Parts: sequence; C-alpha cells; structure tokens
Amino acid sequence: GCDWKRFLRNNWLLLSTVVAVVLGIVIGVLVREYSKLSNLEKFYFSFPGEILMRMLKLVILPLIVSSMITGVATLDSNVSGKIGLRAVVYYFCTTLIAVILGIVLVVSIKPGVTQKVNEIDRTGNTPEVSTVDAMLDLIRWYKTTREEVKLSEEPGTNRTEASVTVIMTTNKTKEYKVVGMYSDGINVLGLIVFCLVFGIVIGKMGERGQILVDFFNALSDATMKIVQIIIKYLMTEVCLFFYMPIGILFLIAGKIIEVEDWEIFRKLGLYMATVLSGLAIHSIVILPLIYFIIVRKNPFQFAMGMAQALLTALMISSSSATLPVTFRCAEEKNQVDKRITRFVLPVGATINMDGTALYEAVAAVFIAQLNDLDLSVGQIITISVTATAASIGAAGVPQAGLVTMVIVLSAVGLPAEDVTLIIAVDWLLDRFRTMVNVLGDAFGTGIVEKLSKKELEQMDVSSEVNIVNPF
Ligand code: ASP
Repeated sequence: GCDWKRFLRNNWLLLSTVVAVVLGIVIGVLVREYSKLSNLEKFYFSFPGEILMRMLKLVILPLIVSSMITGVATLDSNVSGKIGLRAVVYYFCTTLIAVILGIVLVVSIKPGVTQKVNEIDRTGNTPEVSTVDAMLDLIRWYKTTREEVKLSEEPGTNRTEASVTVIMTTNKTKEYKVVGMYSDGINVLGLIVFCLVFGIVIGKMGERGQILVDFFNALSDATMKIVQIIIKYLMTEVCLFFYMPIGILFLIAGKIIEVEDWEIFRKLGLYMATVLSGLAIHSIVILPLIYFIIVRKNPFQFAMGMAQALLTALMISSSSATLPVTFRCAEEKNQVDKRITRFVLPVGATINMDGTALYEAVAAVFIAQLNDLDLSVGQIITISVTATAASIGAAGVPQAGLVTMVIVLSAVGLPAEDVTLIIAVDWLLDRFRTMVNVLGDAFGTGIVEKLSKKELEQMDVSSEVNIVNPF
C-alpha cells in the first residue's frame, strides 16, 4: 500500500503523461470519425500543444548559453578537453553503429524491392541538387523569406513539405551555421560554438572572469527553475490547457485529426517496420549494452529515469525543445553530475542523433530499392558516411532529418525529389527517431561521467582545498 503510494507520488507526472498520450489518441480517433473539422478548427485543436512546444523552445536559448558557458569555464581546459573528446568518441561510435544496423536491416528486409515507385504516388517535381552543394549544406542554413514562413504557418499547410520544396526548388540565401548566431529562430550549432569559445576565454580570465562565471551560473539556476515551473506547477494553476500532459494530449489528438492519407501507411508499411525495428534494437539492445559494459549499472533503470524526456521527445519530435526536460531527468532523476550534463547535453542534442542516422540510411537504401538500383559496396559506404554526416548536420527540430536526407540521396545519384515518397509517413517516424536521439544523449551523460570519474574527483579535492585555504 505505502510503496504504491510512494510510486504514485514520485511518478505522477510521468503517469499523467502516459494517460495523456492514450487519451490523445482516443480523442483524436473519435473526433476524426464523428466530426468534420475545418482547417481552422483543426488549428485550434492543436493550439494548446503548440503553446507547450513554444514554451519549451523559449527556455532553450538561456539554457544552452548558461549551461555551456559555465560548463566550459568551470572545468579547466585540460579536463574539459578530455571530457569533450570522450563525448565525441561516444557520439561518433554509437551513430556509426546505428547506421550499420539500419543498413543491415534494410538490405535484408528489402522493403522497397516488393513494390515499384509508381505504386506510391510521386508528388512534386523538383530538380536535382549537386553532391558538392549538398555536402556544403551540412554547414549552411537556409534563410526563408517572411512570406514563405507566413505561408507555411497558415493552418492546414505542412511546414516540412513547404521547406523541402523550397530548398529543392529555389536558390535560397544561405548562411553559415557554425559561424552565425541567428537565422529564422535559434541556430543552435552556431550558438554552441560561440559559447564554447566564450567559456574558454572567461575561464582563463582569472578573478574578473569569475564574475561572469558566477553570473552565468546564476542564470543557469534561474533557467532550470523556469523549466521546473513550465513542467510542473505554475501552468496547472494559471491555465489547465498549458499544463504539460494536457498540451501533449492535444498535440497527439491534433495530429491524428490532421493526417489526410492513412492508405499510404499500408503501402509504406514494410519500410516503416524496418525503421522502427532498427530503432527498437538500437535503444533496447545496443545502447543499454554499451551502457552496461562501461558503467556496470542497470541501463533500464537509467532509461526509466529518462522516461519523461523520452515521452516528451516522442510527442513533440524535437530534441532541442526536449532539452530542458532531458536536463531535469538526467540531473534530478538519474543524479548525473551537473558538470557533465551541462557540457555534454547541449552538444549531444545538436550533433548526436543515432535515430536520425539510422533512419537516413534505411530511407536512402529503401529509395534505391524502389528505383531498382543495385547498390555497390562503395555506394553503401557512401550512404553510411553521408547518413552519419546528415544526422550531425540535422538540427534538433521536427523533421530536420527529412530535409538533410537530400544530401544522402544526391551523394549516390538518386533523385533528390524522391524524399517526397516518404514525406507522408515521416511525421510518425520522426517521433520515434527523436526519442532514440534523446536516449542516446542521455546514456552518453552516464557513460562520460563514469569515464571521467577520476578527473571529477580530483576537481572536488582541489575545490575543497580552495574553500579551506583560498590563498
Ligand atoms: N526531429 C529530430 C530531432 O529533433 C531530427 C530529425 O528530424 O531526425 O532530433
């Protein structure tokens, strides 16, 4: 009895999120069956979920800035270099494993061999992008005009479809991601690079730099408080609609009402099954195994601690917007050292995308199979390399992976326009691959923490000495 109550008390947010997902599906299906909503009404329906998404996005900027800067500045550059290197090695290895897993599955299941391209409706008719241009697009950012943003935000328009078409059909102004801070929202990668440099510089500035370190430390604490408020308390009181599980309920219900063509799901069934089984194997077998081998703790308990973040990722399909929740789960539930999470999570959310990499590899081979193309070993290696690169280049926003897919296709000479063949089911796969992306980042914090134990302990000792005897 008492245990049960304690379980409820500790996990009520998680439980209500699960209930919200189920209710969202039920309500979505019912409304779909029994009433005809206009586009505008559909928009109203997804409004509460949209608000949740925007609130989470609102805290990303202060969260990344404060955590990256303090993370880098408080570790000395020797230690942060080592931790950074471990993180990058982990990101790279797991992403590569995901790609290989995806390729093995899609080559043996052959989801595209059973059917021809013209059985699936080809929509759109767009020119090919050159391989070099496509590779450069990894570090470039497309600026959309205000008119296009307005157009794609009109209720009933598919934003991703709009941007894929825009990218493939027009010569958009391009801006460099790594060396620029803003363009059409936050450019997370550019921001991270800036904060890295800024953190290193103020870390070396001595006493005067310390003022800034303290400032960003306080900013970080304040931001986490806001995250807590968003997730838990205030919103229940201010307006029930803005409360997270309720936002999630409306997000899922709104999506189910919006989808127009369920028939395509049958046609692409085997392809979806391939992607989903790959994601499942990666997250249930491979990542837990790596975690267990290195950390020697129960990986599933660790994953349960991340449950709230995983569900959020599943519902809003954006690892960047999930970042605030990922932070809280890693630090509060799994007790991962803050010096690690601050440093490793923002970077991970942006460049470490196992799910996206696996999906891009499967999708590229699938499209090759649809086109009756026999891939050579060289082409398969090209797909592996570009899929890895495309996952690093994809921003942590909904369906970014579909956009960088163009790179993988062009690299092996497949028609770039063929991404349109898989657009219809991408919203669903996007949710699952985003969840795997977040899980990979989370396991990464635990693994890097374990590998960096010695350095972290040494730092504890030296900071204790500092407190006892500042001179
Ligand atoms: N939505 C994914 C994410 O945010 C990226 C992708 O489209 O694959 O992690």
